[in-house]
Amino acid sequence: MLADGVQALIDGEWADAEDGAVFEVTDPADGSVVAEVADCGPGRTGAAVDAAERALPGWRAMPAHRRADILRGAAALLAERAAEIGALMTREQGKPSLEAVGEVESAGEHLLWAAEETRRVYGETVPAATADSRIWVLPEPVGVVAAITPWNFPASMITRKLGPALAAGCTVLLKPSELTPLCAAAVGRALMDAGLPAGVFNLVPTSRPELFAAAVMADSRVRKVSFTGSTVVGRRLIEQSAQDVKRLAIELGGHAPVLVFPDADIPAAAAAVARSKFLNCGQACTSPNRIFVHRRVAEEFIRQLAGQAAQLTAAPGSDPGSTLGPLINERARAKVERHVEDALARGARVVTGGRRPEGDRFSGGAFYEPTVLADVDEEMLICHEETFGPVAPVLVFGDEEQRPAGAGHKASTDHDNEAVVARANATPYGLVAYVWTRDLGRTMRVSEALRFGMVTVNGAPLAPPQAPFGGVKGSGYGREGGHLGVEGFLDHKYLSVGVGR
Ligand code: NAD
Repeated sequence: MLADGVQALIDGEWADAEDGAVFEVTDPADGSVVAEVADCGPGRTGAAVDAAERALPGWRAMPAHRRADILRGAAALLAERAAEIGALMTREQGKPSLEAVGEVESAGEHLLWAAEETRRVYGETVPAATADSRIWVLPEPVGVVAAITPWNFPASMITRKLGPALAAGCTVLLKPSELTPLCAAAVGRALMDAGLPAGVFNLVPTSRPELFAAAVMADSRVRKVSFTGSTVVGRRLIEQSAQDVKRLAIELGGHAPVLVFPDADIPAAAAAVARSKFLNCGQACTSPNRIFVHRRVAEEFIRQLAGQAAQLTAAPGSDPGSTLGPLINERARAKVERHVEDALARGARVVTGGRRPEGDRFSGGAFYEPTVLADVDEEMLICHEETFGPVAPVLVFGDEEQRPAGAGHKASTDHDNEAVVARANATPYGLVAYVWTRDLGRTMRVSEALRFGMVTVNGAPLAPPQAPFGGVKGSGYGREGGHLGVEGFLDHKYLSVGVGR
């Protein structure tokens, strides 16, 4: 059965592509067609910019309390429709139902946080140099924003951008991933049902993202492009944005290290690493890709992590018992298999998993068993490329034999800390690092030395709406969440006023 077809949303009206073209969205669990979607070209993108530009003066002038009410209303509708939208998400993206419903709820939380922030977009007054003048700093929306989002979190990646953009008073056109436009349409429907004025949010699905990018980059009415996706596309957008000096927010891939020190709570660490590793079948920018465990606790940690992995049930996400859905497509599985084969050829060992699950129910989708690899080292591909799949590679650190001659226990510990931090930092990426230790001093020293945009210690939550999510280095720039999220969609106008004497 097909879900409803997905149309573009332009100026408050649902519309087909300019030439009636469609593309298909398929279910990653079995390859069946889920929906036909309007395949918009540059004409529809231009119409969406026209609509967003027209809607901008009214939206930015609307009292903040009223804008907050609309965002709050949309958040409530997402919460109310979480089961229904979650089912769509499982069909287009593959993740287990529980995860999908949780993501829709969290997408609503991002809108709710933005609703509250709408009322806290404060300006400044600054002491002037003379008695007859005044200085004000006025926050203003940057203007029309183009948002481009990935498929791995098809609802929350959208509201993390939309919420703060709308809170700041911007208007938006969104191009969702061509793999997951159904959730995007559901978010659009919730906003319209909550009373968002026509043209403030526009949806432009397309299977030709490069045409969308070319159109918005060439249009000087679009003042900001907010992108989440791969580093290779991010780099291209940075180049394309130069001509019109557009503002950019660029949230890219990651290669997250986990550092498990010998004083860590090992069962808690193994359970939390399993959760973040196998969430969304490993298809998260925050997914651990190098798990460094101190030699003294490595055996126990690996045993516990493998135990956690073995408890997962690989199955189509719509199966009530599923805790590990399929990968998004065959290409994604081929990459996972390449990483595992390369690691095994270079001396790694499979502790659990390491293959496709067997059985008819798995034949239509790109399933892969939850996998733990031991004896991993930095010669292996998996330590350099983002795997984006359910493989947990464990590396060991802290070799007592390498301790400088005559050094005491403390020197040995310092040496271990510095060595593992250097290994963790040896990546072009810089999104998130995970630290496990019960030593407060070490927590601070190690966290400060890690060159990542986010560090989470002892399993503390990573992406609540009130915290500034984002990376450094090859993981991009810009922050989503917290007041810095709204800040990203504001310009600050300096107003210098002569007041006479
Ligand atoms: P992708 O770069 O292939 O696609 C992302 C978006 O860009 C999609 O909407 C796609 O249609 C569009 N796109 C593709 N080619 C384009 C082009 N030439 N011009 C303009 N847009 C284009 O990435 P993906 O496979 O959808 O997502 C996975 C990647 O996203 C991973 O690297 C992951 O780590 C990253 N990611 C990062 C974050 C973060 O917050 N840092 C969050 C989620 C995912």
